Order: sequence, then C-alpha cells, then structure tokens
Amino acid sequence: MTNPTDRALSRAERQAMPVALDVAVEIAKHNGVCIRPVVLRRLDTHTGTTEDVNVPCGTTMEAKCPPCAKRNRYLRMAQCREGWHLDAEPSITPDEPTEEQRWLVEFRADMQAQRDAADKAGDDTTDLDAVLVGLDEEISAAGMRGNLLGRTAAKRNRSTRRRQDAPDLPKRVRQNTTLGRTFTSSDGKAYRPSLFITLTLPSYGKIRAGQGVPVDPDTYDYPRAARDALHFSKLVDRFVQNLRRVAGYDVQYFSSVEPQKRLAPHLHMAVRGTMPRAEIKAIAAATYHQVWWPSVDEVRFEGEHLPVWTERPERAEPYPDGQDGDYLDPATGELLPTWHEALNRLDADEDAEPLHVVRFGPQVDVQGVLSGTPDADQCIRYLSKYLTKSLGDTLDADNPAQRAHAARMTEALRYEPCSPACPNWLRYGVQPKNAKAGMAPGRCRGKAHKPEHLGYAGRRVLVSRKWSNKTLSEHKRDRRTWVLEALGLADQPTDLHRYVWKPVPAGDDNIPSLALRLLRMVAERQRWRATLLALEARATGQDLSAMREAA
Ligand SMILES: [Zn+2]
Ligand SMILES: [Zn+2]
Repeated sequence: MTNPTDRALSRAERQAMPVALDVAVEIAKHNGVCIRPVVLRRLDTHTGTTEDVNVPCGTTMEAKCPPCAKRNRYLRMAQCREGWHLDAEPSITPDEPTEEQRWLVEFRADMQAQRDAADKAGDDTTDLDAVLVGLDEEISAAGMRGNLLGRTAAKRNRSTRRRQDAPDLPKRVRQNTTLGRTFTSSDGKAYRPSLFITLTLPSYGKIRAGQGVPVDPDTYDYPRAARDALHFSKLVDRFVQNLRRVAGYDVQYFSSVEPQKRLAPHLHMAVRGTMPRAEIKAIAAATYHQVWWPSVDEVRFEGEHLPVWTERPERAEPYPDGQDGDYLDPATGELLPTWHEALNRLDADEDAEPLHVVRFGPQVDVQGVLSGTPDADQCIRYLSKYLTKSLGDTLDADNPAQRAHAARMTEALRYEPCSPACPNWLRYGVQPKNAKAGMAPGRCRGKAHKPEHLGYAGRRVLVSRKWSNKTLSEHKRDRRTWVLEALGLADQPTDLHRYVWKPVPAGDDNIPSLALRLLRMVAERQRWRATLLALEARATGQDLSAMREAA
C-alpha cells in the first residue's frame, strides 16, 4: 500500500514521530481524509497474503467523522441531481437475493402453511403468528425491500374505525410511470417541472423569534413534541402514500429530515413531476398517523418499585416470542403482559384510543422548480445542507435558553417508549417486545433518547426506490469507474469471494499509530489528487465537476 520511494510519504513518516495526534488530525481534515479510519485485515485467498487496510469510517451509510460526512454529502447531491428531472423511465432490476434471504423466505412459506393449517383446524395460532412476525423482521433486516409476500397473516385486524386508509382526497387512476408531465412551449422546447416541498410539525407553544426557544417553557407541549419526533418518519410514509394515490402515478422523491431551531424535525422533499400547489397542501392537511401502542397514562413502576425478571422453565424448543423469561410485579407476583398480549388487549378493547396521532402543522411550502435551473441547484444544496449535522447540533451551546430547551426535550423523551422493544414499557406495566433480563425504565440505549437525536432516530435521507435508479454505493462505484477510465485503467471485475475481511484486534502490535496512519492516507490522497489535476487540464465541463467531487 505504501511506496517507500515516495518523498512526501517518507517525510510524512519521519514527521510522524514527533507529530502529535491532534496535528495529524488537522492535516487529515485539511486534506479531506477520514480521521477515524477502521483497520481491517484483508486476506487475499488467491495469493494467501494479508494486508491491513485503512477503511474510512464513512464507508457505512451514516458518516461519522467530518471529512467522511462531507464526502457523503457530495454523493447525496449527485444522487439528488440525477433523479430529480429524469426524462426516461428507470429500469429496476431487483438485487439478487442472497442465500440467507432465500432461506428465510422459504422457511417463512413453510411456517405460513403450518399456521394456515392450524387456523383451519380451529387451533390457537398465537405462537405461529409470533414466529411469522419475527421472521418478517429478519427478512427485512436481511435487506429485502418491501413486503415480498404481501400482508402477513399475523397482521392485526383492526376494526374499520382504526384503519388509517385514504383520507377524503381525490384519487386518480394510477398510470404506470414514475415520470411527471412535460410541457412544450410555443417554440417547441420541452419543460419538465418538478416540486420542492417543505413540511413542518405543528406548534407546541409560542417560540421566541429568531431564538427557537419557547416564550413560556411551562406551557410548551414537550410530551407532544417528543412523540411527534419519535413517529415523524411514519408520518412521512403516510404522506408519500397519499401523494401517490392523488397524483395517479408512481411519484418518486428524494428527501431529507432536518432540524429546526426549535429542535423539531422537518422535511424537505424533491419530487419528480408536478401537481397543483393546493392539492399538495390538501394532502398534507389530510395526512395523519395513529400510534396503536398500549397506554402510558398510568405510571405503574418507578423508583425502587420496579418489575423483576424471572426465568421461564427450560425446554428444548425456544419459546415462540423468543423470550426465555418474563417480568413480574414483585409486590403481587403477577406476570406483566408481554408485548404481544398487550397488543391483543388493545385490539379487543373497542373503546381504546391510539396512544398518539401525528399530523403536520399548517406551514406547508411548495415550490415549482424547472430542471437545470439555478433554482434546482439551490434546492439540491438546501436538501443536503444539514446532512453533516445531527438534530441536536443546531443548538447554540453558549445560549443558556437553548440549552435549557434541549434539556427539557431530552427529559420529555426519557420515559417515552421509543419502540416496541424500549425498556420504558416496564414503567407502564408492559413487557417490552423481546424482553430480556437487565432492562429498566429510563435506561433505554435507543438513539431516539439521546440529546443529539432528540426523538428522531430514523434515516436522515429518504430516497424512493426509482429515484435515480441507483443506490448510494452505485453512485460511489460510478465515480470510481469514471476516474479509472479517465486514467486509462479499466475497472477490474472484482471476485466477491476473493477477499476475506477481518477486524484487527485492539492493541495489535503490527498496527502503526493513528497519527502515522493518517499521514499515510494524506500522502495517498495527495498523489491521487495530483493525478486528477493532471487529468483536469485535459477535461471539459461536466467531467470537471465529477472529478472535483471525486477528489
Ligand atoms: Zn471518517
Ligand atoms: Zn427507548
């Protein structure tokens, strides 16, 4: 990986001895090099040799260090630009399912058959339903898109009252296209208008102008703000469903969830194609999401009085809900309902209300945008503006009013259940989904409770499947291929089974210091950049921007 004759490198290496880590970090940042590289040991099964490779932390979807965050932001901008005004239908080829996915789907089909047979015979299907739910989760965790098998049998049957279907909106016949309409001007030029939509949550109390803090913190509705943030991504899903129903075509979008100064998430969305502004506003107003979770009105356990874990009898087969114990009330010995049981009770209770209903606020902004205009570029920059920051980062740490506001928000989230598996359910007398020993209310490690996330733990960028017809890693690969081609090197087809990657154990003596590794990466980056600059001298227009982003 390193070239001992390279002058920049040997100088870097010489310097690394006295160079303090913070200096190396500054140099790395200045050069756009990852400051938290992970060392992986790569075994080449063809040659039998191993090599340690510094992998940028931002190789994962969510960028961690500032230089990686910045690079990912450029990739997102390229992805956004490419899909927005697409003028040909993208062709979608589903990913080849992996062995594991195939096995899961086959296994699920077996279980479904067993469940249906049991149902026909009039037997209790509770256990098998639980297995199916678990399998569906595994299947989606294995990276499959959508629900391959349609509705599962374990899907709860809601009474009509509890369905959240189409609100009272116009509905157009669905055309099988993802492209919006084009308009042709009198001189024959085709225009492809698109939309830029901003959606915001409702008010929780009056906000001091410019500061983002409540005028009266005592009446500001923190519990509602907390729940809205927790369920925001579900609300966005509903909005897209309704949008597609009304639009009458397979609407595609690229959106980002960003923090407002008042610490509530809001959404910017680039939409391919156009619709009347009033219609978008009507859709936003009619969209809502109900959270059908057990009630949290009554605190049953707190302080020293907490549920106690008790093991279930051992048996050969695992229990269908995956738990090997239960929580019970230490005062009465009564077992708390499991998550599944609690949901059944909720379904049976005709008078039950949803735990929460999320809606957008009245502030809906809709802008028409034409492809290739400065407006479009501006929107793309706007969409990716805060991607390098977390929700809590908008906070001005020197402003005591803002600090207090954030602290109250974090406190409101402390005992709020963030998911079915959240330990906070114990506070309200329900066992969390997949309960295990050692859980306690107020000690959930879920992202949503953390001050930097402030309730929103979902993905920051939400891109529809047929946006640019490419995943982020495909965009990455594109860029790599382009550069290699420009260099006159064909991209070598990689044999996926050639390399075996392993993490390097901490404290391994063969790993150079972080400072030295950073300086080596900087030297590599500089060589790479010099090559690109030489190429740039020969390139034109579009190529240039691609190259700058690659560099
Ligand atoms: Zn990094
Ligand atoms: Zn939680």
